[in-house]
Amino acid sequence: MSNPDIVIVGSGIGGATIASALAGSGARVLIIERGGHLPATPHARSTRSIFLDEHYRPKEMWREAGGAAFNPGNYYYVGGNSKFFGAVLIRYREADFSEMEHHGGVSPAWPFAYDEFEPWYSRAERLFRVRGALGEDPTEPRHSNPYAFAPVPDEPPIARARAELKGLGLHPASLPLGIDIEAWLKDGATPWDAFPNTGTGKVDAETGPLAEALKDDNIRLATGAEVEVLEPAADGRSIAAVRYRQHGERRRVTPKLVILSAGAVNSAAILLRSPAAGGKGLANSSDQVGRNFMNHNTCAMLAIDPRRRNASVYQKTLMLNDYYLSDGKGGRPLGNVQLLGKVDGNVLKAGARRAPKMALDFMARRSFDWYRMCEDLPDPESHVTVDGSDIVLQWRRSNMEPLQRLTKVMRENFRACGYPIVLDREFDKRTPTHQCGTVSMGNDPASAPLDPFCRAWDHPNLFVVDASFLPNSAAVNPALSIAAQALRVGEHIRKTELGG
Ligand SMILES: Cc1cc2nc3c(=O)[nH]c(=O)nc-3n(C[C@H](O)[C@H](O)[C@H](O)COP(=O)(O)OP(=O)(O)OC[C@H]3O[C@@H](n4cnc5c(N)ncnc54)[C@H](O)[C@@H]3O)c2cc1C
Repeated sequence: MSNPDIVIVGSGIGGATIASALAGSGARVLIIERGGHLPATPHARSTRSIFLDEHYRPKEMWREAGGAAFNPGNYYYVGGNSKFFGAVLIRYREADFSEMEHHGGVSPAWPFAYDEFEPWYSRAERLFRVRGALGEDPTEPRHSNPYAFAPVPDEPPIARARAELKGLGLHPASLPLGIDIEAWLKDGATPWDAFPNTGTGKVDAETGPLAEALKDDNIRLATGAEVEVLEPAADGRSIAAVRYRQHGERRRVTPKLVILSAGAVNSAAILLRSPAAGGKGLANSSDQVGRNFMNHNTCAMLAIDPRRRNASVYQKTLMLNDYYLSDGKGGRPLGNVQLLGKVDGNVLKAGARRAPKMALDFMARRSFDWYRMCEDLPDPESHVTVDGSDIVLQWRRSNMEPLQRLTKVMRENFRACGYPIVLDREFDKRTPTHQCGTVSMGNDPASAPLDPFCRAWDHPNLFVVDASFLPNSAAVNPALSIAAQALRVGEHIRKTELGG
């Protein structure tokens, strides 16, 4: 497409969802995506390929400021990181939209309240065909519509785990999931969390909103096309062009509107690399682009009873929010607990290369594998910067106390449920799965690069619609909130730029 009205950079959750919201508007939309389509090969269901050989990880390296280079688990394919996601499509809790006091400081409010956002959550749940149940989780915010599909069923060992947790007076609840379990299992009896989706079993950005968007002939997808910079007009106010490289060739397009959706790290890097007066990059009069990088404080936790096997295949159907709004005794919030996809010996070996495989297999056959997620707070000194073409990530950790407290309370709970061995392992910067916050939205142009509709305060024809806009990380998975805001911004663009 040589003269699109709108260019969207990236086809992940933000980019694909806003493309679906623009379908049927008559606008000519070009989606420029760095990656290609994921091929269906045996690697896609092999834990050896995915976890031990790291077959799908990008070849790129990021650096720590003044430190070592590392290979991030950040995926470049049509559909972006969602091709690998655990498909947990959960709403932020209502309290996450207001300021909340944490052990490590204050989590800031959104520029609008939950009630304004609620209808967009409903639409996003329909678009991603979310399976779930209301009435199980006391922290579940108000829904104007019930889930359209029943939850993915617990496997028998997980049904037992649910009963055990209930027996302690806790409130285990079904994870809201974008998973068609029959379709997923038809291609192989494996979990889906961290596995690439090459079929239709997982509703990710490609199989959900992108498939809808591409039904419109006015919307085109260019793959293998990496955006290098955005080019400002002579007045510095509007964005004049998008420069990218496709299959070794340099290209330039001049749309009326640009929507940057390259993910929280890459969108910030593109803005910072782009030429602008003052040398601080685009959309950056606030000096906040790239700052406030957040990624959740997370930890895997294996609860093991050596006498009992866990024969589940996919496992990932339960969560626990009893410690989300407080520590359970009226103290400050701790976080969310949810199941991971079922691990095997290869998955464990990826984190313990020297351990004997037989011992890891023994452990994996008996473990119940949980994930603890606590809020990471925004900090201007936690940032993404660029050094030429290199990405430099300085993740300054915050609010670690809730993770330690949640470890302690969950270890006690699992022991009380009859699992004498409880092991845990923290995730670090090599796993930037829930990256967010680097180009945040807010009511004040002095402190946030984007307005509450994700339009750059500095450039009226630039929007940033991906995990970058999130003002806080909450302590739940981010994709549904990104998608809901993409739908909201899509409608705003239709009304304000495309005549309704
Ligand atoms: C293993 C794993 C499990 C996860 N599980 C969950 C979960 O269960 N629930 C949940 O809510 N979230 C989960 N996440 C996180 C979720 O996938 C992300 O929050 C979400 O995809 C972010 O959306 P985005 O639009 O910001 O970026 P992405 O979806 O990553 O999309 C960015 C897109 O931009 C493209 N791109 C990047 N740079 C350029 C460039 N220069 N030019 C052109 N294109 C570019 C990328 O290739 C990609 O397609 C998981 C992530 C991973 C990796």
